[in-house]
Amino acid sequence: MSIERARVKLQPGGDKRAMLGHPWIFSNELVMDGAAKSLLPGQIVTLVRADGRPLGAAFFNAHSLIAARLLTRDADRPIDEVFLQRRLERALKLRERLIGAPYYRLVHAEADGIPGCIIDRFGDVVVVEPNTAGADALIEPLVAALDRLLKPRAIVVSGDGPARTLEGLAPVHRMAKGTLHGALEIAEHGARFLADLAEGQKTGWFFDQRDNRVLAARFAQDADVLDLYSYSGGFGVQAARHGAKSVLSVDRSQPALDLARRAATLNAVGERLATEAAEAFEFLESAGGEHRTFDVVLADPPAFVKSKKDFHQGARAYRKLARLAASRVRSGGFLFLASCSYNMPAEEFRAQVARGLHEAGRSGRILYATGAAPDHPVHPMLPESAYLKALLLQVD
Ligand code: SAH
Repeated sequence: MSIERARVKLQPGGDKRAMLGHPWIFSNELVMDGAAKSLLPGQIVTLVRADGRPLGAAFFNAHSLIAARLLTRDADRPIDEVFLQRRLERALKLRERLIGAPYYRLVHAEADGIPGCIIDRFGDVVVVEPNTAGADALIEPLVAALDRLLKPRAIVVSGDGPARTLEGLAPVHRMAKGTLHGALEIAEHGARFLADLAEGQKTGWFFDQRDNRVLAARFAQDADVLDLYSYSGGFGVQAARHGAKSVLSVDRSQPALDLARRAATLNAVGERLATEAAEAFEFLESAGGEHRTFDVVLADPPAFVKSKKDFHQGARAYRKLARLAASRVRSGGFLFLASCSYNMPAEEFRAQVARGLHEAGRSGRILYATGAAPDHPVHPMLPESAYLKALLLQVD
């Protein structure tokens, strides 16, 4: 039985990438006739090859360069609450296997088979970020499927990133179920943290650095640690728990630092963690003037390369950060630097860090080159979605 839904034709040869396993079809690979252009953004369509054979079911958005995103290669499969529930179940099973406590990225877009959709889980609170018109249009069955699967006490629908803008979507922040009061507690590798979903940035917590926080903390024993761009204390609190003598968390956001302080107290390391509200570069420059140094310097900044066009400027910012941060590391100490810029390839990031280290007049060695934790899986055909890069170096 063939399913009733709009059909969009591919240009001859427009299925080349899709035939190799890629989940995207660009607008110039489709027949963008009046009928296709009149489809609602986010509508589910059956893609049909030039020779008439169906390719699969996809999210369609005539206004986006990525005009179609494949959901399944079974063109007859209904895309409904049951379909979404199957995808959610598969994602949940994987996270339960990977991570000991229910605090993680439950769905990481294409890699989990729901294109452009991010879902983070904070125990019995779930945050859905529909970043494509297709995911946005499916929000009701998605919320219903989540509700059935996890029975959370609250579901937040939130999103204001550039991805939504590219898809022609307005920012959204609303409660689809329940209410939220105050910060939520998270458990991560034995530590307790706080995330404020109402006030917080993005989805309130950066789960992607979970494993890197304990990796860096392994170098914190008896160390004076500087945690730049600390947000709510993810790196700093783990470092203190792993025996740091002192931790200084620096961020420009006072509300984020307040949560870091509260998390330090929750973990009984409050007397070893101090905070300072400051611009990171200014802090580093004045610390340089005072010849202040640390055994371990951690820097996990916001994306410096926000779009392709500011690549060079962003690359320079990573180099400058590496230079200023490296010069604050005591001889034999350790430096952890991260980049969450989607448009900054790992090789280029490493090159900028290497140059910054050299410009600081320092030498050293890379001990670890890592990325996001595995609850942020990568679609094998979308290696660029491995946005997070991190390097841990020893500095002479
Ligand atoms: N390392 C954190 C996540 C960092 S997110 C963790 O492990 O959870 C980036 C942080 O950088 C945000 O908290 C933001 O407030 C802060 N920030 C952005 N620009 C800044 C600047 N110029 N100086 C200092 N902090 C900045």
